[in-house]
Amino acid sequence: MLKRQGSEEIRVTLETRKAVFIYSQALEAYSYPPEHPFNTIRAQRTREVLHSMGLLSGGGRSQVAPVPAERIVLKKFHSARYLHALKRAARGRWDAEALDMGIGTGDCPVFEGLYEYAVLATGGTLVAANLILSGDAHVAFNPSGGFHHAGPEHASGFCYINDVALACTVLAEQGKRVLYLDVDVHHGDGVAYAFYDRSDVMTVSFHQNPRTLFPGTGFEDEIGMGKGKGYCVNVPFPVGTYDQAYLEAFEAIALPLMAAYHPDVVVFELGADALAGDPLAHLCLTNNVYAEIIHHLLSLDKPILATGGGGYNLDNTVRAWALAWSVLCGADSGEDMNHAVGGVLLESTEWQGGLRDRALAVSQTQRETVMPAIKATIDFIKANIFPIHGL
Ligand SMILES: [Zn+2]
Repeated sequence: MLKRQGSEEIRVTLETRKAVFIYSQALEAYSYPPEHPFNTIRAQRTREVLHSMGLLSGGGRSQVAPVPAERIVLKKFHSARYLHALKRAARGRWDAEALDMGIGTGDCPVFEGLYEYAVLATGGTLVAANLILSGDAHVAFNPSGGFHHAGPEHASGFCYINDVALACTVLAEQGKRVLYLDVDVHHGDGVAYAFYDRSDVMTVSFHQNPRTLFPGTGFEDEIGMGKGKGYCVNVPFPVGTYDQAYLEAFEAIALPLMAAYHPDVVVFELGADALAGDPLAHLCLTNNVYAEIIHHLLSLDKPILATGGGGYNLDNTVRAWALAWSVLCGADSGEDMNHAVGGVLLESTEWQGGLRDRALAVSQTQRETVMPAIKATIDFIKANIFPIHGL
């Protein structure tokens, strides 16, 4: 699509990139219990912000409604026994067998419409995958997706049906080399273990150190097995990690691996709980990191299926996802980004500056504790994973 780097070609690419935002009002009918941290209204709020900015139409942008995922597709990852128990529980027939599978716990409560919501939100991610396969989308974003903790036969970490594992499966079945990148603050365990022995789906998860955060997995020495050895990449970050340190790790680890892997498509789980101020985690990022990462992903010139995920500070999450979409759909070019970052530092109220977080001060203690840990992780991955990819 982008053969030469002349400014005219770049402009054409931005204007013609087909970008699909997945949403429908039907999603608004469902919510987790009021005391639960997971708030389904984040997708609606993101849509409202983008609509008010005129960023959901024109320039190749469109909205597509999710459709409920079919049971036959759900069974590509989940067991029939689990799907049956989930449906039964949602209908009020919850029992010990369901509880054994994590359904009806504090993290994964049973609520009205649970099954319909999980299947519809998952259907949105699958609609996005199919639009990419048919060439009708270059980028697609389902802010109602990203349930990366769900396992084949268990609910976990607010997740019931693993839409992202299913999307990777569907794309791989069509012969695509899939890069799954997960920047949610929690380890993307359900997806990593789904493809742990496969090389056609590379999973890369950036997350807070599992010694200090759920789900307690995702250490750097979990690198895959058999044919999948070297195709599972875990990058744990210490408490207090800040933008510059995070990006240093991304550029040292993810960029060379992505280039060596040559993916056909990227599935990007964009949990926003790594942002400073998230009530459930302890990293100190700003949303400028996500914008930077998306610019890197776009430079691969491959389709991108982005989803939501965690994110428990409502306003920060909505702003991060709105910014992510504006970058994905080409409303925020690399050149504009530099201006916008400058605008943030100068506390400009110009609209792109309005979506971007201000730069955060980094303390001496943060620098002294964070960088050595990150450097050790980079060294481990360079020594143990890079050689497998000829790096
Ligand atoms: Zn999370």
